[in-house]
Formats: sequence, C-alpha cells, structure tokens
Amino acid sequence: MLPKTDYMPLREVAESRPVALVYGGPAWEAVKERLRLNVVWRFEPREASRDYWDQHGADLRGEVIYAVGGGLAVDTAKYLAVTHDLPLVCVPTAVSVDAFLTWASGVRRDGCVYYIETKPPDRLILDFEVIAAGPASIRAAGICDVLSIATGLWDWRFAHDCGQLTPATAYIPYVDQIAQGILRGSLDCAEAAGRGDREGLKQLLDCLALEVQLCNQTGHSRPEEGSEHIFAYSVENVMGKGLPHGDLVGPGILLVAALQEQDITELRRALLDCNIPLTNIPADVIRQTLRDLPEYARRHNLPYGIAHTLTDSSLQRLPVL
Ligand SMILES: [Zn+2]
Repeated sequence: MLPKTDYMPLREVAESRPVALVYGGPAWEAVKERLRLNVVWRFEPREASRDYWDQHGADLRGEVIYAVGGGLAVDTAKYLAVTHDLPLVCVPTAVSVDAFLTWASGVRRDGCVYYIETKPPDRLILDFEVIAAGPASIRAAGICDVLSIATGLWDWRFAHDCGQLTPATAYIPYVDQIAQGILRGSLDCAEAAGRGDREGLKQLLDCLALEVQLCNQTGHSRPEEGSEHIFAYSVENVMGKGLPHGDLVGPGILLVAALQEQDITELRRALLDCNIPLTNIPADVIRQTLRDLPEYARRHNLPYGIAHTLTDSSLQRLPVL
C-alpha cells in the first residue's frame, strides 16, 4: 500500500496530537518555522540497526510519529511506529529516496543492507515549495531509485537466462515493460526535477511511487534493484555511513550499466541533471569494490546479477565517470 499523500503548504498542517519527532538536522532546520508541531520527544538517528533503534526509542512519548528528513529518519520512524504501535506521518523535504513510500526499513548488518518489514507511512505531506528550495544535490536524488531500473532489469533478465531465478522472482515480461515505462518517465523529468521545477518533481515522485507499487505487487524488487545496489552496499563500508543513498547508487548505475555493455549516455545525463555527485568515490576504491563484488554478493546471498560474474577482464570496460 502506498501512503495517503497530501500536497499542501506545511504552514497549513494542523496537528493537535503530541508529536514524537524523528528527524535529520538540516531537514528539520528547513521546516521548523513552517511546520508547527507540539514536539514532546525527539530523536536524530545516526545509525540503522534494530538494537540502536530499540535503545534510543525506549523512552519514546507522543501520540503520533513525524519523520522529517531523508532515508535514515524515515526508516527509523517506520520501525518505531511499528514497535510503539503509533501512526506515522512523513514530511519529506526532498524527493531523495523511495523509503517514504515503502513498507520496509533498511538496516545495516555485517557490512550489508537488509530490509525488514515495518510499515508504510500512514500519511505523506509534500510541500513542493519547500522541496524546490532544498539543497540541489538532494532534492531530486530519488531519481537513482528509478534509474536503477535500467541495471536492475538487465540483471533480472540475465539471472533468468542463467537459470538463477526462484519461482518467487520468476521473470515476467510485462512487468519488465511497465518498469521500462517508469524508467522513461524519470529520464524525461530529470532535467526539470533537478532544477527544482514543481511539475518535474511531481513526475519524479510519481515514478518513484509507481516503481514501489510495481515491486509491491510483484512481491520482490528485481525490476528496480540489481548490481548497482550491491555496489552501493559494499562501497558504503569504505566511504562511511551517512552518505546520501544517491551518492553511492548513482555511480553504481553508470558503472554497472557500462559493465552490462549498455549505452550510459542518457543515464549519465539524467544523474547530472539531478545533481548527483559522480566523482566522489576514488577510482581505486571503485576498482577494488568491483573486483571484490562477486565474493561480496555471494557472502551476503544477494540476488544474482552481473555482480556475481565480474572478472578482471570484464573490468576493462569501466567508464570514466
Ligand atoms: Zn535504493
């Protein structure tokens, strides 16, 4: 189920219940004057793990949880909303991730990311004026979770051809085609979304919502997650926690698409239009991460794709980002 979504100025939000606030610092700073809440408990998470969330959420008070921030705040808030049996309202200040549309929370364990079932927000409040005014590098970074369809679909077909799919993740041609349509929609809106245009941001949000709903109905995320996410999970161990999801997935999409021998021109253009930094990961870290990726993917039992088959000779095809 996708959350009920309200498009409205944050100043018009009328909330009378005492609020438990889960937030990211810069996001809360950006909205706290407009969004008038009776905050009785607050938490700025720094980590994504159950133990950490349980420990810091133990004294939670309030009748509703508000999440104001990016993926980490939202994933934390979804978990706390379930464990404390409270309604959850999400106020994204950027179209930065698909986390505020999904029913799962990503947790870090043993150097990898796993998803645990939590719940979708009960309500999503979007003020495009706030989002458009946000930092350029974040406001449309969610495009990475739609552009990853390009590499995720390739891996899904590849895994099908290699006989590596289970009945639960069997290849479905019409789902592939729907995903391609969503990918097209995001490529078409990238420039406008990146520049903070309201219609562009709305289309990007729609693409994310459709991608999430497609994965919900299909029962897995093979149409959207492939080796580019495996690369992102692995390289996070070197680059450190707390980097925006898109900073890792964005380069991953281009690297993996090139290894898959796809034309990366349009993908690269869209990422740059959405201000995704592509050159933050040092070249030697990229190379070492890709070299270790087959072993990493097996060790963490990740869905089969090109990551499982990389060799030194395939790494000759790496593009200059
Ligand atoms: Zn993602």
